Amino acid sequence: MYTNIDNKQKIIILSVDNLTYIILLSQLSIVFIKNKDFFGGKMETKNEIELYMNENLKEEQIRVPMLDFEMNEEGDYQYTTKVYEQPNKIGSIVLDFIQQELKEMSCFIFRFYGFQTLLTEKERKEILALNPNENKELNNKIDKLSNKYQKEFESYKRQIIDIIEYCLFNEKKELEDLNPLEKLHLFINTKNIEEYPILNHNEFRKVIKLNKSTFKMTEKELIQTIKDKDSNRYGVQEIYEIDNFYNLLFLELYFILQEKTYLKKCKNCGKYFLTTNSAVIYCDNRFEDNKTCREIGASKVFTKNLEKDEAYNLYRKVYKKKQALAKSKGGSFEIEYNRFKHQGKDKKNAYKLKEITKEEFVKWLNNQ
Ligand SMILES: [Zn+2]
Repeated sequence: MYTNIDNKQKIIILSVDNLTYIILLSQLSIVFIKNKDFFGGKMETKNEIELYMNENLKEEQIRVPMLDFEMNEEGDYQYTTKVYEQPNKIGSIVLDFIQQELKEMSCFIFRFYGFQTLLTEKERKEILALNPNENKELNNKIDKLSNKYQKEFESYKRQIIDIIEYCLFNEKKELEDLNPLEKLHLFINTKNIEEYPILNHNEFRKVIKLNKSTFKMTEKELIQTIKDKDSNRYGVQEIYEIDNFYNLLFLELYFILQEKTYLKKCKNCGKYFLTTNSAVIYCDNRFEDNKTCREIGASKVFTKNLEKDEAYNLYRKVYKKKQALAKSKGGSFEIEYNRFKHQGKDKKNAYKLKEITKEEFVKWLNNQ
């Protein structure tokens, strides 16, 4: 992976072979919000990361300050701190951290997930002393800092994987009935805890507020903001205030162990993945022949007496009806048929793999 900061367009270009990050970055440009009043237009020495969670949507949003630059009145670039806000699946930062090749990822983690909270004051000053109009120098500096933290990142990665393996994928018979948090308790009390500094990063503050900057708003504006559920999907929330990147990793690990989300190991490719449905056992990554692990998994399931299964019969009926309409009328019917082909296959796989019940599958089909 290669990171480049494009001064002209003020975007960050990442050439990666992993599409996810390109998408993530394209979203980033939308979610930048300027917050100069709050950050004073420079890199802060004490940055707070805020995490909001929506348990219904199984989604979290993280506000993390990141170093960026903007054009001043003279047309030169100067440093500023912007806030990155992006809804993620709960636990996706810690998953990225343990799953990705950290050598390639470090720069990314550094820039977007609160690297400023790890830097010493001296390191911050060194960055600010560089001319932001000199791309090369800045990239070199970031690379150097990434290398410095590399070892620490690798160590934290190993610690987190150890804890996950112990608490979620432990096959010891006597631990069978314990939940993940109880296993964590056991882990803490039986392992050499000095080898797991991540466990000390368990500090955060929980505050209750509105997940939106309401600074300088009038009462009327405030009422409107609270009522507008579309632009304010999180409403009044409990917010975790975190002051260090490793605390953020621990907090996400904690959510996983609390089963606010499910971290699974794919039965086909063996990689970790997150899901909101505890019955899911295959991931949605492309594996081979353009097929996802889930599709491969579903194709291995043999269903007895298929022709007697009412849900399958209903599926076929809906399928044929939509196909016939698409053929005879075309246009929007064809679009609708293509949508159903795609979503219906997905639901059929979910039914086959017992991720959803027969009732759920039939209910979905009846709504088509
Ligand atoms: Zn997989």
